[in-house]
Order: sequence, then C-alpha cells, then structure tokens
Amino acid sequence: MNDIRLKCIASGSSANAWLFKAWETRILIDAGASGCRILDAVEEFGPIDAIVVTHTHSDHIKGLAKVMETLKVPLLASLPTLKHLELGGVELKTNKAHTLKDLDIRAFRVSHDAVGTIGLRLSTTRFSMGFITDTGVFNSSMAKSCADLDTLVIESNHDAEMLMRGPYPQTLKRRIAGPKGHLSNAQALAFVNHVATPRLTNLVLAHLSETNNSPEVARATFAGLETTVHVATPDGGVDFSPEISNIQDSSERQLSLI
Ligand SMILES: [Zn+2]
Ligand SMILES: [Zn+2]
Repeated sequence: MNDIRLKCIASGSSANAWLFKAWETRILIDAGASGCRILDAVEEFGPIDAIVVTHTHSDHIKGLAKVMETLKVPLLASLPTLKHLELGGVELKTNKAHTLKDLDIRAFRVSHDAVGTIGLRLSTTRFSMGFITDTGVFNSSMAKSCADLDTLVIESNHDAEMLMRGPYPQTLKRRIAGPKGHLSNAQALAFVNHVATPRLTNLVLAHLSETNNSPEVARATFAGLETTVHVATPDGGVDFSPEISNIQDSSERQLSLI
C-alpha cells in the first residue's frame, strides 16, 4: 500500500486541481477543473477529508461548488478567500499548523494578485511537501516555510523570453512577469536551489503556460538537479508515491550525521 500519493488532475493556466494522500488522510487541493472530472478522480483516489483552496482565481475554483455540494466535506482556505467564496469553511491561519487526521497543513503567504493567496506545507512525522502554484516572486519567509522538504510542487509558469516574444498583450505580459503574477522557469529554479537539501527527492513543476512554456523547455531548466523531476500538464501528468524518509526531522538528521 502506498502511504503517500500525489496525483495531479489538471495543471496549467486554465485548470488546476490536485489530490494528496498521507496514510488515511486525503485532500483535494484546488478545484479548478470541471466538477465531473474532479469527482471521477476522487472516486479512483479514495474518499477525501477536506478541500484546500489556495486562492479565488477561476482556474483554481471552477468546479468547487459542485464538488462541495456532492461530497459535503469541509473547505479550508485563508479568511479572505473564504469571505470571497461565500461557501462557508474553516480558516487556515498563516504559519499555524492545522491538523487534519494524519496531516499537518500549514499555510503561508505568497505574492499573487488574488486576495489571501497561500502556499502550503503538508507534513506528517516522516514526510513534508511544499506546494506553491501561483506567486510572482519568492521571499525568505516562503523559503523558510519550504525548508527541509521531501517533495516540492513549484510553479514553473513561463520561459521569460517566450513570454516577451509571445502573442499576449503588453499589459498581460507585465502582469504575468510582475511581482504578483507567476514564476518563470528561471525564478522557480532559483527558489529550488535556495531550499533544496539532499532530502528533496521529488520536484514537481506545475502551472506551466501552454503559450509561453513547454514541458521540454521547463524540464531543460532543471536538468542537472539530483532529484526526480515531474512535469504536471493540463491532463494531469503526475501520479506518484514518494518514498518515506527514514529521517524524522532535521535535529534527528543532525544526530545521524555525527
Ligand atoms: Zn492565480
Ligand atoms: Zn492559477
């Protein structure tokens, strides 16, 4: 039996939805694909305990109302997101662990042009995953939230040159490349280089633009890293069970190094 599993239902500029499992706890992260598509994926994955929404852009919430109506599980999100959505739910306070059965969910602020946008750190005693899909920049507090991870899901939205030469209007190009837009491949690599330790065994590139990036271009940016690189696509493209580290936390690792 797989203890941990990460499955992408959809990832990109138009739809984002993910399933994550740690032992007996399963969550849906974002519900930006159609309700039917998400419900089909949940049926295969197993019953979910909660839905976590990172922010209110339609590519993250399109199917939310239908999924909530059908599955009747709690919605977890930042307070500004809950207020905007008006669907009820439980507040995820930033930098405070919210425990859901086997899983600790810790939200942290990112830099994006939707109210209360959050990144996530999902932890159990022997596994931690970082999840950041929409941010224009990264900063030291985000890096701190992503310290010592086993798996990192990071936005690798665009190739800066493809964006500048591409068909988008100037205003949209500026928004995407701006501090509250989306991370380029190079920015994502800089973040990974900043937070990666030998413990990081799986890196997942997410929210790739279909116009201003390609899986090949994004993957080439990360060539040379000593970690398995997965690329999420509009059809999913990611479904794996990371191995569980034998090392409990950094203090234990320090001891094991002596
Ligand atoms: Zn967004
Ligand atoms: Zn998005």
